[in-house]
Amino acid sequence: MMGRIHSLETMGLMDGPGIRTVVFFQGCRIRCRYCHNPDTWDLNGGQEIAATELVNKLKRYRPYFQASGGGVTCSGGEPLMQPAFLSQFLRLCKENDMHTAIDTAGFGRGNYEEILKYTDLVILDIKHSDEQGYALLSGGNIGELEEFKKALVDAGTKLWLRHVIVPGWTDNPDHLHRMRKVFASFNNVEKIELLPYHKLGAAKYEKMGLKYQLEGTKPLGKERLVNINEMFFQ
Ligand code: SF4
Repeated sequence: MMGRIHSLETMGLMDGPGIRTVVFFQGCRIRCRYCHNPDTWDLNGGQEIAATELVNKLKRYRPYFQASGGGVTCSGGEPLMQPAFLSQFLRLCKENDMHTAIDTAGFGRGNYEEILKYTDLVILDIKHSDEQGYALLSGGNIGELEEFKKALVDAGTKLWLRHVIVPGWTDNPDHLHRMRKVFASFNNVEKIELLPYHKLGAAKYEKMGLKYQLEGTKPLGKERLVNINEMFFQ
């Protein structure tokens, strides 16, 4: 099975337990205003590769990430956009004794049950707590998350939940209160992380001739993030 990937990163430290080899998949059908990988949006971009060849590449790094309790993380883009390629790749990873994680927004193309059979951990980034905010910040329909959520619950997959705190968008107390409720509606949650908005990907937009959608928004300061965490987890 052939699929399209953007790149590989062998020193992922934020994308699951231990050191991760991260595979950035091509394709995403939502458009988060803060996305730092707009170069992964196009499903026809990147390079084509067979799932078998990709796993063979990763085998070279296996002793290294396994020694740290790490594994392989499928990120992007949205890895769920290539369900047949993703599930075959994950199955091959499991056959080769690798820990597998998917870093996703939950906006794919179905086949979730098959994908989750070979997934040890899902890192789910939830963009907003309500329908309007979700649509404004990401262009996505929050209702579509339900299908993936149901598959997660049925599969009993371990879950890390994430949410990006964007000043003026997702840092107000009412929203954070609703976000806690959204998080509480999931099962098997091992970890919740609030991530600070940053502008690291902004230069890519200029290169691609695209308008960066949060031009006037400042990155979230460390102190503000600490305050929000205290409020959120109290
Ligand atoms: S889901 Fe991820 S890849 Fe897609 S637009 Fe949002 S941040 Fe970017």
